[in-house]
Amino acid sequence: MSRVTPSDDPIVVVLNRDLRVHDHPALAAALSASVRVVPLFVLDPTVLDGPFAAPNRVGFLVDSLRDLRRSLRERSGTLFVRSGDPVEESLRVAHEVGARAIHASADVGSHAQRRERRFAEACAEARLGLRTFPGVTVVPPGEVRPSQGGDTYRVFTPYWRAWRAHPWRPLAATPRRVPVPTGLAAGRIPAWHRLVGGDRSPAVAPGGETAGRLRLRRWSASSHDDDGRRDDLAADATSRLSPYLHFGCLSPLEVATRIGDQRGGEPVVRQVCWRDFHHQVTADHPRMSSVELRPRGDRWRGESEELDAWREGLTGYPIVDAGMRQLRHEGWMHNRARLITASFLTKHLYVDWRRGADWFLRWLVDGDIANNSANWQWVAGTGTDTRPNRVLNPLRQADRYDPEGEYVRRWVPELADLDGRSIHRPWLRHGPWSEAAGYPDRLVDLDDAAAAFRARRG
Ligand SMILES: Cc1cc2nc3c(=O)[nH]c(=O)nc-3n(C[C@H](O)[C@H](O)[C@H](O)COP(=O)(O)OP(=O)(O)OC[C@H]3O[C@@H](n4cnc5c(N)ncnc54)[C@H](O)[C@@H]3O)c2cc1C
Repeated sequence: MSRVTPSDDPIVVVLNRDLRVHDHPALAAALSASVRVVPLFVLDPTVLDGPFAAPNRVGFLVDSLRDLRRSLRERSGTLFVRSGDPVEESLRVAHEVGARAIHASADVGSHAQRRERRFAEACAEARLGLRTFPGVTVVPPGEVRPSQGGDTYRVFTPYWRAWRAHPWRPLAATPRRVPVPTGLAAGRIPAWHRLVGGDRSPAVAPGGETAGRLRLRRWSASSHDDDGRRDDLAADATSRLSPYLHFGCLSPLEVATRIGDQRGGEPVVRQVCWRDFHHQVTADHPRMSSVELRPRGDRWRGESEELDAWREGLTGYPIVDAGMRQLRHEGWMHNRARLITASFLTKHLYVDWRRGADWFLRWLVDGDIANNSANWQWVAGTGTDTRPNRVLNPLRQADRYDPEGEYVRRWVPELADLDGRSIHRPWLRHGPWSEAAGYPDRLVDLDDAAAAFRARRG
């Protein structure tokens, strides 16, 4: 078989949510087609001025860029960084180095899709090749579709079956060397606080592929045999890989392959499949963050004192407040707590899920359009949940998933003197609003609020 000789003209690899060297199809393809590549990240002011630019995520992004530059330098390359419009800056760099093509990983949100269309037009005009590659999900959105037609799977279980049966691409080779053109300025990676105002959470995870791989290694070495622990709030037994998957510091395919091969790994592969599921819905409905997939005629409430109390973790329901305070402190929240807090906001307080999703995006280091919006819509019953009117009772959830009250004790210290399950019902000990307890009374009566919600849905 004849080997294709790599060309001397460089290829620009525009990075975005794929900040890694392992299993990077766009980078690997560039390295086999050309003797030199230009790994490039463009800091886009339209993103950095928008709701995406939460300090927790911008900090994680900067950590990840620095880490990637380090590992590319170890491979005799570097990461090139520019600021400005990604399309204009990428073409400018391509022109400077005499590149013949641009590579990028395909993504799903409306901003990403618009950017890809603009890249296509600009590259066609400049007579530059443009190739997009998989890598943001395990199975590219659109590759698994319902056989009876329809745009996309809207129910998870049939998607999961089809996804599991679908062949996965082989992992891309990790490059040993990443030769880059000489004479091109690398560009500075600014400190995160120069890019965005506000504070980071005190206990946010460090960003970067190195930190992500370390977590993956440690977590894969632990036992996943007991699936029941996933929902145990105090055990904190899930992988916490979500921020690394969000920024592409880890390849979802590598995570699924590695963990799927282990005993007890299947439930985790299923979680990663949920991520793909929400991405394929978002690819076909890129405005998921604002437009309801299945409107139910709701006349949601907007700004209110109740919404503020929810944001601050002062609803009077300790399990809800514990989740909201974990979010602020770590920039991350356990999945079970996300379900409980989101259900409480939309179904008991009947506040618009978009307000909740915005607050999550303000803090979550893993916050992204596909997963955040699709999960919020799922909980609000306007998305892909097949039981849209279900209401999670926070007290029953607390008894089941935090039976000793350990999770609440960790995050709501003013209740620490209450033992066992009584911590979930402080009003039984302290009565309504008690200065002495320093903890507010309940915002709503659960039964009345759930009945009102069901009446609204008809
Ligand atoms: C209201 C709400 C909002 C959410 N917002 C986000 C978000 O902005 N970003 C985000 O990554 N996840 C979001 N999730 C999903 C889920 O809560 C987190 O992915 C999970 O808690 C991350 O923890 P982990 O890495 O330990 O997960 P694990 O349980 O170890 O799962 C492994 C990986 O699978 C993926 N995953 C797990 N559960 C889900 C799910 N329900 N939907 C999509 N992917 C999933 C994540 O990438 C995760 O890292 C949200 C869930 C809810 C209910």
